[in-house]
Amino acid sequence: MTPARSILKGSVQYLKGVGPRRAERFAKIDVHTGQDLLYHLPYRYEDATTVDAISELKVGQDATVIGRVVSKGVIPTRRRLRVFRAVIRDGSGHIECAWPGRPWLDRTIDKGDLLLASGPVRFYHGRQLQPREHVVLAQASDERGASGDGSAGPSAPSGDRSAEPAASGERPSGERPAAGRVFPVYAATEGLTHRQIRAVIELNLAGLLCDLGDEDPIPGDWLEELRLPPLPEALRTLHRPSAVAQVERCQRRLAFEELFFLQLLHARARARLRHEVRGIAFDAPATLTRSLLNALPFELTAAQRRAWSEIEADMARPAPMNRLLQGDVGSGKTVVAALAMLKAVEAGRQAAIMAPTELLAEQHQRTFVEMLAPLGVEPVLLTGSVTGKARQRALARIAAGDARLVVGTHALIQEGVDFASPGLVVIDEQHRFGVEQRRRLRESGEAPDALVMSATPIPRSLALVLYGDLDLSIIDELPPGRRPIRTAVRGAESRDAAFDFLGDQLAAGRQAYVVYPLVEESEVLEARAATVMFEQLEARFPDAAVRLLHGRLSSAEKDEVMRSFLAGDTNLLVATTVIEVGIDVPNATVMMIEDAERFGLAQLHQLRGRVGRGAEQSYCIVFHASETPSERLVAFEKKTNGFELAEEDLRIRGQGDLFGKEQHGAVLLKFAQLDRDHDLLDAGRRRARAIVAADPGLSKPAHRRFRHELDLRYAQREALYHVG
Ligand code: ADP
Ligand code: MG
Repeated sequence: MTPARSILKGSVQYLKGVGPRRAERFAKIDVHTGQDLLYHLPYRYEDATTVDAISELKVGQDATVIGRVVSKGVIPTRRRLRVFRAVIRDGSGHIECAWPGRPWLDRTIDKGDLLLASGPVRFYHGRQLQPREHVVLAQASDERGASGDGSAGPSAPSGDRSAEPAASGERPSGERPAAGRVFPVYAATEGLTHRQIRAVIELNLAGLLCDLGDEDPIPGDWLEELRLPPLPEALRTLHRPSAVAQVERCQRRLAFEELFFLQLLHARARARLRHEVRGIAFDAPATLTRSLLNALPFELTAAQRRAWSEIEADMARPAPMNRLLQGDVGSGKTVVAALAMLKAVEAGRQAAIMAPTELLAEQHQRTFVEMLAPLGVEPVLLTGSVTGKARQRALARIAAGDARLVVGTHALIQEGVDFASPGLVVIDEQHRFGVEQRRRLRESGEAPDALVMSATPIPRSLALVLYGDLDLSIIDELPPGRRPIRTAVRGAESRDAAFDFLGDQLAAGRQAYVVYPLVEESEVLEARAATVMFEQLEARFPDAAVRLLHGRLSSAEKDEVMRSFLAGDTNLLVATTVIEVGIDVPNATVMMIEDAERFGLAQLHQLRGRVGRGAEQSYCIVFHASETPSERLVAFEKKTNGFELAEEDLRIRGQGDLFGKEQHGAVLLKFAQLDRDHDLLDAGRRRARAIVAADPGLSKPAHRRFRHELDLRYAQREALYHVG
């Protein structure tokens, strides 16, 4: 037996059946140590019950088969496409498999190999399977003896052969695997096949698990409560399940561990900020906030009331607030932000709101001037284009503390802007603000409270993973009496009718947007596409003032176009995605989006939110370029609630896509699937928060191993990850 604590931590190179050359290939799939190998889990399982009998395959069906290769070859077609074909046979019959454009498979698939293939069954001189995926379960050479092919894998003792599922007791003619037999399928790479990986795991699994021992970072009583298996059992079962039904529970075991430690990391970051940084307790009597509530021409919605009372309570505490306020476009976040700012002001502090662009800052300024004038609070604007004397005056008032409420852009956190007594910072649209800005805000002097507002709803589960160090308030309800925006998803054949409709709306005095998507990441092409359309629309609507907005314009030009649309001098705005997030033109009633498949659901929803802001009925017309609308567009047509759409997006796209590269989300979650595991996320978060509340430093004996585990897991990642 290997000495304890060696092979898990040691290089994969020294494991049975690996060696230096193969270790290099393992490195390509991020397997460096024994532990990495142990955690290189199958990404899929095939089960005899999910395998179809070849004789029963029907054209049009999506099938998974297992069979022996009886003949194979590369056949050039007339269109010079080289197609690799292999005929495979199981106990019931045979079928041709074809891989168009992949002639090199001739080198990796041999006659006599046992092949698992899944894909659609087409009609081509009879039935033909076109595998989307395939796995060589056993090679012909295995049966001739492992030494027959130097690179084929470790020379497994014959007892191990039973691990090659259908290979044992498999007659060369090939037959269906026994029922209940499960094949784990591993992610492979060039020069390292799935089958070789499986063989290496087979050789080393017992040793690795033995090295792991009974140690489990998750306490046994939690596992019992959550009905999850201990770690060693989970890992063993995931590599070698005897039934597919066992797999999910074990995957969830790993998911829980991952979610718990991530939430513990968040909870610790949150606690550090709360305990180590002195904040401000805003506990003055509610004078201004009360006046604003009384002066509003409407009642707050239940969701606004809930968000406001969460913020109010949080601000009253002496610890610094770090809160994310999520709400759909038009859900009324601005009023809630105004209340929070007034709460700081009535306590004798200054409040600031930062918008992502000057235009939006100016829009906020107008809103606040109107809303707060009756209360005698005069907002001060500070952006890059406030210059000269006006700037000097604004800076002086900010520094003296008599600018009590300040509206601006990034300009607010630049050198030379010196708040006399900062109390609260509201950051509008967090997606445009990077990690860096958030950090700078927190570092500035004593810790002001921070409220981050986002109009791009993301599912709660995702928010907890990405921004778990923030507290979360959600406005998930629109003010009453809003007319839902009518959404239509149409094909190109409806474009003419849609333009007629657009013309009617323009003739009735309304304004409209036509949006073109990003073209292949190329601003030049994108601008050209929009320009062509712009010229057509100008010709079609000679009475309308049509303007064009795209990324090739200078920022002064863009600004001028946007202002003209805001002022109502432009009726129809033809734009690429540079169109402002959050711009508010109540007279705009039509949002037309071309080639909508190119947009994500969140983006589509943002665009739709540009209309429906006034009294008139608004419309969103979306064109799909493909023959039929995608699942995403169908969802978009049906649902207008941003949170529901975000959940749908998570379901359709999967979490990996939603995270995006820059957010490190993909790094954060390897095992958890948020749509499946949100109950575990909550369970992990509850426990993490309770532990940190009782023991912020994780220094009690019972918690020390958690701290140790955190350090191990996030030592390198913490630098990269924004919870520093
Ligand atoms: P958001 O910033 O969330 O997109 P806003 O705060 O700009 O939304 O609110 C959109 C509009 O709805 C504004 O005109 C605002 O005055 C109005 N509004 C906000 N809350 C309510 C409410 N509870 N009842 C009626 N109208 C409201
Ligand atoms: Mg807003």
